[in-house]
Amino acid sequence: MCGIVGYYGPKDPKDVIVGGLKRLEYRGYDSAGVAILDGPKNDQHFKVVRAEGKLGELAKKLETVSFTGHLGIGHTRWATHGVPSERNAHPHTVDGVSLVHNGIIENYQDIKADLAREGAVFSSDTDSELVAHLLARKVKETGDLFKAVELVLPMLTGAYSILAVWEKQPDVMVAFKNGPPLIVGVGEKRW
Ligand code: GLU
Repeated sequence: MCGIVGYYGPKDPKDVIVGGLKRLEYRGYDSAGVAILDGPKNDQHFKVVRAEGKLGELAKKLETVSFTGHLGIGHTRWATHGVPSERNAHPHTVDGVSLVHNGIIENYQDIKADLAREGAVFSSDTDSELVAHLLARKVKETGDLFKAVELVLPMLTGAYSILAVWEKQPDVMVAFKNGPPLIVGVGEKRW
């Protein structure tokens, strides 16, 4: 049970996301992180900042970090797969696809074995990272994050709410869920 937040719009995503995570902090407190687009307008990548411990540790790290982009996601973690650590903190990013996940992917062992056979290199012990690998493969095929999610959904068993973003589509965020709650807000006079 964790907290996930995403933002796309004219405000500074760092402020909106950290503000949202503060309200969700009771849902997860062993680590936290954000991935927010950064870089020159036509060549933006996700800058990922993560910290073990309470949200205050992440907020401290973020004091000296700025972002030029307007799309980002954040997470406070309550570990189910892999110890609490910076390495296992979300967001998990693979080839420009970044995601935050609340819940459990029950068939993660089968997915991990298949990905390992295909040569995937893992940078965490979480079930969540595996979904980032699957999406990264599918965006290469389809060139579209929404289509990639449609292809990955049937591969997943479990309870989850996930926010996914891809650096090649800087105005797209895809949210998908099976079970845990997820609220989408659209502000007036926002993008
Ligand atoms: N299963 C994921 C993990 O262990 C997400 C846990 C959560 O909902 O915070 O990283």
